[in-house]
This record gives sequence, structure tokens and C-alpha cells, in this order.
Amino acid sequence: MRRKLVAGNWKMNGSKAALAELDAIAAAATAARGIDVAVAVPFTLIHPATARVPGLSIGAEDVHEADSGAHTGCVSAAMVAEAGARFTIVGHSERRADQGETSHDAWAKATAAHRRGLQVILCCGETEAERDAGRAERVVQAQIEKSVPDDADGSWFTLAYEPRWAIGTGRTPTAEEIGSIHAIARAKLRHMIGERANGVRILYGGSVVGDNAAAILGTDDVDGALVGGASLTAAKFVPIIEAAA
Ligand code: PGA
Repeated sequence: MRRKLVAGNWKMNGSKAALAELDAIAAAATAARGIDVAVAVPFTLIHPATARVPGLSIGAEDVHEADSGAHTGCVSAAMVAEAGARFTIVGHSERRADQGETSHDAWAKATAAHRRGLQVILCCGETEAERDAGRAERVVQAQIEKSVPDDADGSWFTLAYEPRWAIGTGRTPTAEEIGSIHAIARAKLRHMIGERANGVRILYGGSVVGDNAAAILGTDDVDGALVGGASLTAAKFVPIIEAAA
């Protein structure tokens, strides 16, 4: 049985003052014994967040694939681990769109993060144009093919299906559509890593809020949620944690 995971992604939001939100989130995470809860924050907040709520899994939103070197402005997996991060997101669609990152980059980052002892949440998902063209399944399969490391297993690796058109838009696929892509994603993982695929959690992300969380989290093969906007405040994030528990 896979434990559900509810992960927040603060993106380029937050401040030291906003870390106060983590107090109630950490309390809800402790109360929700049967599930895992995690929050990815901007690099600058990783250390203060872990100092404030040591029991909560705090992570990074991205890492560079090299350990160190001449990469101005970048931060390595070793560095975020030293700051207290337990996991990192890689391959988020905003990094693919804004920084031109590829599935191969996501693979390299996932591999580097694992080497440094971090858990990894690797994102995939189609654009609206790709969905309209009937290509959502093939796009997701190709992204998985190129980005999932050969040694992936549920002890450190989580996949997140995040259709780009659902991120921050208030629109979500139907539960049936989510279930169908998750089944395809799991079949693809099985093809690549065999039975280990059964232990890998597949999260859904894109406009998850308190009102739709129970329906989405109750869908077959949905092992949790990756939550952006609604993870910024305890008032919005705690109901999602409670829906998963
Ligand atoms: P959203 O973002 O919940 O604000 O749609 C999800 C994500 O980008 O991970």
C-alpha cells in the first residue's frame, strides 16, 4: 500500500513572516498519521523553515544537477540538503516553460538529488494544445521515458502528473481523465522499472483546493496531490491534508 503524500509548492512566494503558516500545517501533518505531508519553499526559506518546524518535511523547488562549480545563480542538491531540505521538486512545468528545461534535465536533476540523499518529486504533464490534439497520453509517456531514472523506486521517487493548463487556472481534468492518465503513467513506469513501479506514488497537481481534494484524492491510482496556490496558507492547505488523511 502506498501512503498518500500531500506536497505544497510555494513557488516564488513566501517570506520569513509567511513561515508562521507552517505552524498549523505542521500540526495538521502530525495529526494526519496515515499520510505524508511536505512543503517545497524558495531556497532562502529552506533553513528558516526547517528551524521553525523541524518535524515537517521541507524541500526545494529545483536543484542544479552538478554538485558545485561555475554555475552563477544556481543551487545544488548538496546545498539544499545541507540547508535541511529532505526533498526537491524537479521538472516542474514552470521551469520547463520559463527556463527551457527538458525531460533530460529533469532526469539529471533527479539523479543528482537522489545521490545526495534527497527524495524527488518529478513533474510531467501536457499543455492545453497537446491535450486538444489528443496527444496528452503520448506526451506524458515520452516525458516519463526521458526523465525517470532507471533506479527509481518508491523509497525516494514520486511522480507528479500536472497538466499545464490546470496549473493556477482553477480548471481541472475530470476524475476519469486523471485516473486514465495515472493508469497510463503507472503502466509506463512498470515497463521501465518493473515491479518497483508499484511502490512509486503518482500525485496529481493543478488547481487542487479544499473543495475538490476529496474527489481527486479518491480517484484510482491517485496517491496524493502537489498543491501550489492553496499551499500558501494553512487555512487553504490544511483542508487538503485532512481530505487525504
Ligand atoms: P496550483 O499549482 O495548485 O496553483 O495550480 C500546482 C503546481 O504548480 O504544482
